[in-house]
Amino acid sequence: MTNLNETHDPALASWVESANAPESDFPIQNLPYGLYREAGSGDPGRVGVAIGDQILDVTTAAAEMSGAAKDAAELCNGETLNELMSAGNGAWSVLRAGLSGLLREGGPADALLGALTAQADAEMLVPANIGDFSDFWASLTHATNAGKINRPDNPLLPNYKHLPIAYHARSSSFGVSGTAVRRPEGQVKPPGADSPVFKPCARLDYEMELGLYIGPGNDIGSPIALDDAEEHLFGVCVLNDWSARDIQAWEYVPLGPFQGKNFANTISPWVVTMEALAPFRTPAYERAADDPALMPYLASDANAAAGGIDIKLEVLISSAKMRAAGTPPALIGASRFKDMYWTAAQLVTQHTASGCNLRPGDLLGSGTVSDEDSFGSLLETSWAGSRTFTLPCGGERTFLEDGDEVIMRGYCEADGARRIGLGECRAEVLPS
Ligand code: MN
Repeated sequence: MTNLNETHDPALASWVESANAPESDFPIQNLPYGLYREAGSGDPGRVGVAIGDQILDVTTAAAEMSGAAKDAAELCNGETLNELMSAGNGAWSVLRAGLSGLLREGGPADALLGALTAQADAEMLVPANIGDFSDFWASLTHATNAGKINRPDNPLLPNYKHLPIAYHARSSSFGVSGTAVRRPEGQVKPPGADSPVFKPCARLDYEMELGLYIGPGNDIGSPIALDDAEEHLFGVCVLNDWSARDIQAWEYVPLGPFQGKNFANTISPWVVTMEALAPFRTPAYERAADDPALMPYLASDANAAAGGIDIKLEVLISSAKMRAAGTPPALIGASRFKDMYWTAAQLVTQHTASGCNLRPGDLLGSGTVSDEDSFGSLLETSWAGSRTFTLPCGGERTFLEDGDEVIMRGYCEADGARRIGLGECRAEVLPS
């Protein structure tokens, strides 16, 4: 786990004034990476770092650096973050220190003004070539709730507390925040019907998750030990794992999710590095005394002491009516990543336990982040459609309607640290 260093100093301020506003997601203590271009230009993407409401072009900034920091900045010359991701902790840390030095008060503002683009004038792209995507199920609360809905007598399956469960998902349908999502059609079997029908999804849902980007990969046949796992994690984003519950319900036994999950995933555009998250580390979830003992490959003192990350996640809905009336989005759920039953490191280790190889830019989804009384999916909020909730401007909901915009946000706060944000993951539902 990354130690605190001078880049985390809450007293640091930037010559980019907007970064010093207390509510900014992107103060100088954050420095997340993304891929951007001038809106409408059709240019290939360039690697940038968010600072306040601006983006600094890392390639241009490299000219102001020297030595190892310059070498690391030059890993950003391509059209994705994969090269930087593959370079590992040493390069990441020296580049962060270099960017922090350039952007802080007293840095070379005159030389870098021309390398800034206002975020309002930029179009963000999927930041990495995401080769593979696997989606976990690491929240005990979510797994228990989903289990109660499907199996009231036997909510939690017997494997849950022994290993982090996941399914292998798709990366081809990833879109960055702002990309609309079309309501899928598929085969569903309505309750009580004798046979299935093919129709637009009537139970369209979101899953509020944390996305974890892999840095350096591992060779096939070489599992990653738990205490090495974080060296293979580059950073995080907010992830919406869109879910068609009625399609999923009919297809998922016995091989798991397929059409109910493969039509879209939405990610926030900025990748907040593991180093930026250092002030927000927490102990791992405290397992109950009667939970099964962890097998040795999933247990370590370091993981127990600081395997958690205190990231707060929120999901909001804005209906078409609300937007027309100028009404702000309504908060539907808020929960904390630190309460997940399995840590980020345990997900990496479990993924490679068989010898499976991960590659730079692969993404792991955490699974829906739900607390006891505030949920990261409408499956739980509406208890599978049995409880309605009402949006401002009069919309009653169980699942999503066309025109609804789903907005997810993440941020971190801790005593003695500057608040940082993950930014937004936003998408509107279009008719099928
Ligand atoms: Mn999911």
